[in-house]
Amino acid sequence: MTEKECFEKLVKLRYQELFSCPVCRNSDIWLKPDRRIIICKNCRKEISPLSDSLFGRSHIPLGTWFDIIYLVTSSPDRVITAKTIFEELDIGSYRTAWEALNKIRFAISHNEPRIKLKGVIEFDEMVISGIGSEYHKLSILGAIEIEGEKRLCLEMIKNPDEMNIKDYLRKRFSRKVTVITDPDKLYILNWLVLNRINQKSSIKHYGANFMSIHIILQDVRYGLKNGHHNISEKYLQSILDEYVFTFNNKDRNIAYEKVIKYMVNTKMSEYKKSETKKRRFLSIILG
Ligand SMILES: [Zn+2]
Repeated sequence: MTEKECFEKLVKLRYQELFSCPVCRNSDIWLKPDRRIIICKNCRKEISPLSDSLFGRSHIPLGTWFDIIYLVTSSPDRVITAKTIFEELDIGSYRTAWEALNKIRFAISHNEPRIKLKGVIEFDEMVISGIGSEYHKLSILGAIEIEGEKRLCLEMIKNPDEMNIKDYLRKRFSRKVTVITDPDKLYILNWLVLNRINQKSSIKHYGANFMSIHIILQDVRYGLKNGHHNISEKYLQSILDEYVFTFNNKDRNIAYEKVIKYMVNTKMSEYKKSETKKRRFLSIILG
């Protein structure tokens, strides 16, 4: 796509074809893709429709942005890294690639509705880090529907205890689900019993094509460990959200269009605000 086509698409998504000039209420505009502005045909007011979106304050051409989004949304079942983006696309620096990926993850994390899993679910916990004295441990809880839409859910939990597990189960599982988990993990069985959730003990009869939560969690751990020099706790959930997004949005075109829409409708100020949170680096346990 040319810069003009990308800009036109973003302006349409930004205003949903309901643009009216803030000065004179006129709706006829000229597009100036080279300066990323629109001009009111009536009063000549200049407006930068992207400046307060996640496409704002960026020197990356819009066409390259679209290529990055394409790369992210067409990479299901793997943790995509800034290194891949830097190597596969024509981007000035690793840092620029990292920032672009971080914004895309933010857009997904803040816009994609949180789902509640239904039916029969496989559930597991993976401890990924012990980080100093403040928290004993940090885990990823993984759950996948093994029938129907086969949707995935991955959530970072600090120091899983009765309270936050209860909260997690209430938020992420529909009523009347049936859960299958590793019979060796007695504490998980206890969580389920305490929360009055039905259980089944075996997944054997689901056959060879069955996408086990255990394999997904191992993949995620491998991706985190290999793709990132340092991973900070504050970015972990958005990395998981992006993985889940590409896993659950199996139609690549829909996923691609969704991310572009999320990016143009997310405020840069919200992103900046979240970036001020302190980083706490994790040392990921290989297992
Ligand atoms: Zn005007």
